[in-house]
Amino acid sequence: MDNSKKEQIQNTVLTSFQKAVSTTLEKNNGSRIKTVHVSDFVSPCLRKSYYNQHITDSEQDTIKNKVLFMGVILHEHTKLSHFHEVTMCYDIVNDRSMTPQDVEDLKDPAGIITGTLDDLVKVGNEFVIVDKKTWNARGFVKTEPDESYFKQLSIYRVLLKESYNIDAKYGCLLYLDKSNDLNETPLAFELASINETKQFLRQTYNELTCGMPPPTITYLCNGKNKFGRIYCPYLEQCKKDGRDVG
Ligand code: SF4
Repeated sequence: MDNSKKEQIQNTVLTSFQKAVSTTLEKNNGSRIKTVHVSDFVSPCLRKSYYNQHITDSEQDTIKNKVLFMGVILHEHTKLSHFHEVTMCYDIVNDRSMTPQDVEDLKDPAGIITGTLDDLVKVGNEFVIVDKKTWNARGFVKTEPDESYFKQLSIYRVLLKESYNIDAKYGCLLYLDKSNDLNETPLAFELASINETKQFLRQTYNELTCGMPPPTITYLCNGKNKFGRIYCPYLEQCKKDGRDVG
């Protein structure tokens, strides 16, 4: 095969794949509402959440999309209950429930948080909020939920109670090991109380909206991992804004 033919075939296959990825993500983002999202409240660095809200950059979006793609495929094809992939909204400032339709009609959705719950399952008499997480175990055995995921599911508890008057006291993370054929580790735990989480939401929302939060340097940007990878797409902007003096 001559080189130009080879290149043409490879480019065609690559472009087709990239198009398929964007189509899938566009379909998934179609219902993404322009509010703060649960993920903005559980990031280890609030400045990163601030940038998520304020910076629109197509190159960074492409990087984020590549990370999102695996999760989108997984969630779409692993429905554990009828209550699956349900989007919920809650007004943090006025402590009231909102439907996604209400929020879409608002000109200014300030103070509203949106989140999409993976699955709500019933075990005995209890409702349990379930979320699937892919990770690379590389031999490590999980025995406790990550703190950010614990917070995430506790926030879903608030949104679920406000939106559907269902109180789920328990959560379960289903960790799926990408380095071992998606080997499963389920971890069940009790969620934080609704009042405690509402207080956390109000406080974090204030920190996110009263100016740029200070940087918190963690695994997201310290490069202390096997491949020296930086997971925060805002590193350059953050350096300009004084990453090392926060
Ligand atoms: S580079 Fe680090 S400190 Fe700066 S926003 Fe990103 S995660 Fe936060």
